[in-house]
Amino acid sequence: RYQSLPYSRALEIHKQHLSPVETAYFQKPLLLHQGHMEWLFDSEGNRYLDFFSGIVTVSVGHCHPKVTAVAQKQMDHLWHTSSVFFHPPMHEYAEKLAELLPEPLKVIFLVNSGSEANDLAMVMARTYSKHTDIISFRGGYHGCSPYTLGLTNVGIYKMELPNGMGCQSTMCPDVFRGPWGGSYCRDSPVQTVRKCSCTPDCCQAKEQYIEQFKETLNTSVAKSIAGFFAEPIQGVNGVVQYPKEFLKEAFALVRERGGVCIADEVQTGFGRLGSHFWGFQSHDVLPDIVTMAKGIGNGFPMAAVVTTPEIAKSLAKCLQHFNTFGGSPLACAIGSAVLQVIKEENLQKNSQEVGTYMLLKFAELRDEFDIIGDVRGKGLMMGIEMVQDKMSRQPLPKTEVNQIHEDCKDMGLLVGRGGIFSQTFRIAPPMCITKLEVDFAFEVFRTALLQHMERRAK
Ligand code: PMP
Repeated sequence: RYQSLPYSRALEIHKQHLSPVETAYFQKPLLLHQGHMEWLFDSEGNRYLDFFSGIVTVSVGHCHPKVTAVAQKQMDHLWHTSSVFFHPPMHEYAEKLAELLPEPLKVIFLVNSGSEANDLAMVMARTYSKHTDIISFRGGYHGCSPYTLGLTNVGIYKMELPNGMGCQSTMCPDVFRGPWGGSYCRDSPVQTVRKCSCTPDCCQAKEQYIEQFKETLNTSVAKSIAGFFAEPIQGVNGVVQYPKEFLKEAFALVRERGGVCIADEVQTGFGRLGSHFWGFQSHDVLPDIVTMAKGIGNGFPMAAVVTTPEIAKSLAKCLQHFNTFGGSPLACAIGSAVLQVIKEENLQKNSQEVGTYMLLKFAELRDEFDIIGDVRGKGLMMGIEMVQDKMSRQPLPKTEVNQIHEDCKDMGLLVGRGGIFSQTFRIAPPMCITKLEVDFAFEVFRTALLQHMERRAK
């Protein structure tokens, strides 16, 4: 138990000195003091199972002892140099990360956050293609910096400020909410309750979404485009998946018009999806640029952009890229330790096994409760979309979703929320999670739903 700051004092300080814009996630905010692997502890010593990993960030476990030991050792040696100086942790890390990506994705730029990585990827797309327009999906989240705000199309983050010059949004081929339904990309263990009547193998919905995509590409401003950004599975928008083969066709269309394709792996990378190390591999596509953050450092602020030598060269021609903290010895040592732990502890395999178990188990709840419209995802990235009833698919009101969320927390389970109406529970635990903990989460979530049904009946 660690009691340096009383709860009431923390609330006071928050109110006076911390950003009023960042909304507290819970009605009664949590004051967290300690973390160990998939567990978090608050100021009163209560234990919580972290099923959201500090927003899909803690990949190998809170304060993983091996990562902590490497960080401590590196702190005794050298924290910082600035990337203009060479140092072994950076070179060792670059080599290890490059090994995990297919040819020709072999040139790495190290930065500090997902927004910075996507900013840089936007610059690369424009300098390489010599075009301006960049396309991203509605519901996509790619950052909050002034540049990436143009790509981000989640309403609550889209500030009422001039932003997004040269950025175009296009319809998200959302299998659950989109007008044509569709069937999920490749080997998903659970299939959504489709709107269309065709079988997953003959599903026509993709063609309709591709027509919409072409329409965006053919608008006058975007005839020759710089690039197309896509998350392999949308995270903030509530774990939204696209129809099978959609990205493959979309990438081809973008390339026909001289644009490059960017996979935003900030949430989906590093083995979280189980079947593959990178989300783009599950769509059977090869991007020109890959951006990554969050899980890359298990919570330490670091991020990367990986691209081809050709694109990297085009960037070098027009800019001296400099980043004070990007690729610091400390970040790189931590990054290497994270990769080692993922490998040694077979965490990608664990994501696949425990994730599939979790998806199938929670799909039982979809069949039990009319207010669960969809259970979807891949590996350890799962969305549970709450509706008023299965027929209407109207989103469950936010106040009701919030109450279920709060009840789960009070029973020791932390889950996330997402979607335009904040109607989807997002589950993305650290990749060291066990089936026993999934059983615990299942029981807590089911109890919260039963409590909710009782409240509704009154
Ligand atoms: N891309 C995706 C897919 C994200 O989910 C996020 C963060 N939620 C970002 C980019 C931006 O990352 P950061 O908050 O580190 O800037």
